[in-house]
Amino acid sequence: MNPEIYLDANATSPVMEAAIAAASGALREGFGNPSSTHGTGLRARALLDDVRARARRVLGADSGRISFTSGATEGIQTAILSALCAVRDARERGEPTGQLLVYGATEHKAVPESLAHWNRLLGTGLELVKLPVDEHGQHRLDVLRELAPRAAMVCTMAANNETGAISDLDGIAAVLRETISPAYWMVDSVQALGKLPLTLSASAIDYAPFSGHKLYAPKGIGMLYVRDGAPYTPLMCGGGQEAGLRAGTENMAGVAALGAVLAALEEGSTFRSHDVLVAYRARLADALRAAMPDIVFNCAFDKSLPTTLNFSVPGLSSKELLNLFDAAGVRVSAGSACSSALAVPSYVLEAMQLPGWRTAAAVRMSFGPMADDAFIDAACGRIVLCGQALRHICADTGLVQMTHDGHVTWLVLDKTQRSCIVIDPVPALAERIDAFVRSHACDTLAILSTAGSAGWPPHCTTVMTAHGALDAIGLGARVLVRLPDAAGVSYLLGTCDPAGLLASAAVTHAFTGAAMSPLLPAVVGPQTILCSSRDTGRLPCTTLAARETMRAACAAQRELDRAALARLLADHPQARLVDVREPFEHAAGDTGFQGVQNVPLSRLAERLGSWLTEPAIPLVFFCRSGARSAKAVECMQRLGFASAWHLAGGIALSGGAGTDT
Ligand code: PLP
Repeated sequence: MNPEIYLDANATSPVMEAAIAAASGALREGFGNPSSTHGTGLRARALLDDVRARARRVLGADSGRISFTSGATEGIQTAILSALCAVRDARERGEPTGQLLVYGATEHKAVPESLAHWNRLLGTGLELVKLPVDEHGQHRLDVLRELAPRAAMVCTMAANNETGAISDLDGIAAVLRETISPAYWMVDSVQALGKLPLTLSASAIDYAPFSGHKLYAPKGIGMLYVRDGAPYTPLMCGGGQEAGLRAGTENMAGVAALGAVLAALEEGSTFRSHDVLVAYRARLADALRAAMPDIVFNCAFDKSLPTTLNFSVPGLSSKELLNLFDAAGVRVSAGSACSSALAVPSYVLEAMQLPGWRTAAAVRMSFGPMADDAFIDAACGRIVLCGQALRHICADTGLVQMTHDGHVTWLVLDKTQRSCIVIDPVPALAERIDAFVRSHACDTLAILSTAGSAGWPPHCTTVMTAHGALDAIGLGARVLVRLPDAAGVSYLLGTCDPAGLLASAAVTHAFTGAAMSPLLPAVVGPQTILCSSRDTGRLPCTTLAARETMRAACAAQRELDRAALARLLADHPQARLVDVREPFEHAAGDTGFQGVQNVPLSRLAERLGSWLTEPAIPLVFFCRSGARSAKAVECMQRLGFASAWHLAGGIALSGGAGTDT
């Protein structure tokens, strides 16, 4: 089995035992309403007061107001609402105010979205201005100096959630002071709690929101610090709880749990010291360097939280790295949010002006300050396994599909001759194509385009086809033939007969542009796999036969749960179980299945043809989450293959690799 190594603490953390016990106590005996005046209520009130007093000590807030919220997003709303109401009121009184809402370019989305929302809702009409950061994610103080005199509010996080970059809050405070800025200053302190020293009331910070679930408390509890004298408008009104700052009966289980975390912070021995965390990061970084020697770290270690590592690996997208780690049971997150067809680069890394491939390939690994030696040992061991898995390249590489933003690059390989031909290289894939060719130790014979004949090598042979003699490049036992037409070029891949004729039936694949060449039906067979340069979210493979019948796919009816899969395998012992994950994911963890073939989705085009010739053998695809296997089923159905199935929810939900069941 494959116990989970959770390295995504910046997204959320597990709840510490003491917090679970405290929450459970508040739910059982301490269930009172702190507003009640009887003994049960008074005990709840005492807990509330005690946790608030702890919060004051931990946050260095002997003055100012601290209210309990549902989390940082609520604290951010309240702070922004308060500041904007104050600006609006000052204007109504005819007093001068700032005109700009300045926010760091790497803020959590909750900040700019809330600024825009409340600015619109309150009709304040202020101008939102992004404060740029440098290559280390540090706010550009020179730009702030220009903006600060006209700013109504400045929002600069204490530490970044993607990169761990620590902001120069003293530098920002100095600029605001020296420019006599009228701005209210909010510091999103979510990632700082437990990792950076905090002395809030000694600072000029007006608002500091915190979130419990980033530091071993449950979701749904947070805190907002408001400096004495800073304006305040409640987000929620009602029964006057929290001294009128935030109405609604308090989330006492959450408060109690947060209290346990604050107690641990005060007591000091539960969380590792900064130096220990720095040493842990160094060990993780060494393991990563050993596993992926080309790795690049995206934020300087001396300028970031020791608990956050953000990195990119040339030749691997963040989705691929994520899948690899997940297969090994290591939970990390992408520095970029990925949708199935489009990879959205990280706006945080873009703001740091890192090269495009790094912003699109970033992965964040983060751990909490309760990590211990055993955990870091286990994590490093698992990273080493990931490195070994990465060296697994597909045994029978023949044809590889790489997709970016709907554009497809096809790589045609010959493993005996160690040569390869690239068709329609997408510029954004250059790093990956390069890494792939290098890892397969291939010579690139030609780089071709379906838009024209550029790249065709001067020395080539000629073969006979149904369309007459055509130019060809030898690729081991196969040939790649050029078929130009008025609109572009198609390429036919197949094996010639001894007389040098490439018969239609011997063309296994044809590579086409977005539109199919009118000449193709004469030179390919009904079952030739037609590989397009465009991918509209499906696999870009079809056949002439499938195009004629235009079969509608209904993948939803093709889902199997684990029990249905067992029944299908019992009824059809010859069924093929196909893991469509990349070879390194397949190698990184046990799938939990016997007799599995690994044919990655990116290599399916190579294998489709042979499966189509055996329609009586059912195919069951699976992957990590069910997304890739659903595509494989849909493609097989489009090609007229009736008995293709896939495992709903993938192995992540079915108790296979990467789960701790
Ligand atoms: N700010 C930062 C820096 C964060 O990392 C997060 C959480 O992702 C938030 C704000 C939002 O916090 P919450 O989930 O408590 O609303």
